[in-house]
Amino acid sequence: MKNDTPNPLLAAAAPAGDRAADTLVPITVAHGDGIGPEIMEATLKVLMAAGARIAPETIEIGEKLYHAGHSSGIAPESWDSLRRTKVFLKSPITTPSGGGYKSLNVTIRKTLGLYANVRPCVSYSPFVATKHPKLDLVIVRENEEDLYAGIEHRQTDEVFQCLKLITRPGCEKIVRYAFEYARANGRRKVTCMSKDNIMKMTDGLFHQVFDEIRVDYPEIATDHMIIDIGAARLATRPEQFDVIVTPNLYGDIISDIAAEMTGSVGLAGSANIGEHVAMFEAIHGSAPDIAGKGIANPSGLLLGAVMMLVHIRQPEVAAKIHNAWLCTLEDGVFTADLQSQGKPQTQRGIPMPFGSMDFADAIIERLGRLPAQFKPVSYQNAPLPKTPAAAKPLYVRAPAAKKALVGVDVFVHQSALSADDLAVQLKASNTAALQLQMITNRGVKVWPGGFPETFCTDHWRCRFVAATPAGEIAQRDIVALLGTLTEAGVDVIKTENLCTFDGVKGFALGQGQ
Ligand code: NAD
Repeated sequence: MKNDTPNPLLAAAAPAGDRAADTLVPITVAHGDGIGPEIMEATLKVLMAAGARIAPETIEIGEKLYHAGHSSGIAPESWDSLRRTKVFLKSPITTPSGGGYKSLNVTIRKTLGLYANVRPCVSYSPFVATKHPKLDLVIVRENEEDLYAGIEHRQTDEVFQCLKLITRPGCEKIVRYAFEYARANGRRKVTCMSKDNIMKMTDGLFHQVFDEIRVDYPEIATDHMIIDIGAARLATRPEQFDVIVTPNLYGDIISDIAAEMTGSVGLAGSANIGEHVAMFEAIHGSAPDIAGKGIANPSGLLLGAVMMLVHIRQPEVAAKIHNAWLCTLEDGVFTADLQSQGKPQTQRGIPMPFGSMDFADAIIERLGRLPAQFKPVSYQNAPLPKTPAAAKPLYVRAPAAKKALVGVDVFVHQSALSADDLAVQLKASNTAALQLQMITNRGVKVWPGGFPETFCTDHWRCRFVAATPAGEIAQRDIVALLGTLTEAGVDVIKTENLCTFDGVKGFALGQGQ
């Protein structure tokens, strides 16, 4: 473990309110699905034994609710509890596969504005076997946007679409949060990972905002990596990383990788931080393959709960639990997920591995002890969560740009014609204001000057641009074009307006254009 920085398990923003030291803090608790109830029972047992001053309110979420007809996985009255307590300790839930069900995790994060998913991953070598004993990093994952917007459509017989939404407020909030977190926790470097060599506008914005904001934190080193090489480096040289900030999907993937590299995905907790509410959980899922066996590792949820205790201003209880947990690892106590690492069958005569509740009892036995080999954890100087009034706004809306409408992409479903024949048909629908400029298929230009080798689906993006040199059109010109296309029997799926913002194109070229 890093010896010269405070422990990473801190939530740096979001209010918990000022609460007197001896009052019980109401928190909302959900026991979840699969291994959820087992690890929650173990976690709450440790919290109570350690003297956590909490008053849990239990809500039901997940499979039961889905099957009771709540397609969101949560009953309306449960939102009341979450909005009242503003603190949520949540076990993993199972999202039923197939259509008709939305992921409740994503719904909760987005509905409550939990924009920052903070996922510390730390190796506990030599007590937990790992190929990466120096791994000690924090992944700050954007939590509300990207492909997780969940806006998906089937557009043609052959083509399905998922919208990737990246916004300036989203980027600014998460990037600023990552730097604030690094500063508050003595972290020295923030690495941005994106795929802006391909997604120049969406991931490009993320990278651009990172470059804009990093200048406000001159004491913190920065770098940017394309996510593919970044993930590869993370898997081979994790000690090069400190804080990583990245969009939602990449963050989801690399945090599972990083947690697994520490020895088990069952070891990592996470905080989902918003301006009003915060949610704490393990990073892993409901592990249906081991559910009901009592063998799950409760550590991820417990470390999530430790982050929660810091957030609700009970740093001494958080440290007591964290130190007892470290002592448990030092004493060689382990759960089944860590067994495949050449561990002994017994430890001081006690059969191993421990089940979830026995592991919790082992932690409870060690409450009050400090680890001998790991650096003892203290949260006394942990930065307290700021109240909304005290916190610097993470996003301030800029004045609107001058926007000009210069064309339209018309998406068309058709399987009978070649690109050249489709172009002939579409050009017949040109209006005085708009004329066909280009056709792409899956983003590659196929007209004019397409290649016969290019495979084409039944989904065509047909770009119409302003016919006049001034280049600007009106919405009614698009309506008129759609009228002529419809009369010509063209199956229009959707349109995207082509705009400039302060004279800068707000749309990408076709591949090969
Ligand atoms: P998973 O994380 O549940 O399990 C992956 C593997 O890790 C399994 O082999 C499992 O046994 C093991 N594992 C996970 N946690 C463990 C623990 N605490 N102790 C020991 N072993 C552990 O991932 P999955 O199987 O892909 O997903 C199962 C379900 O969980 C899916 O329905 C998925 O949607 C859901 N899920 C929920 C959350 C959440 O609620 N936050 C997160 C991820 C996945």
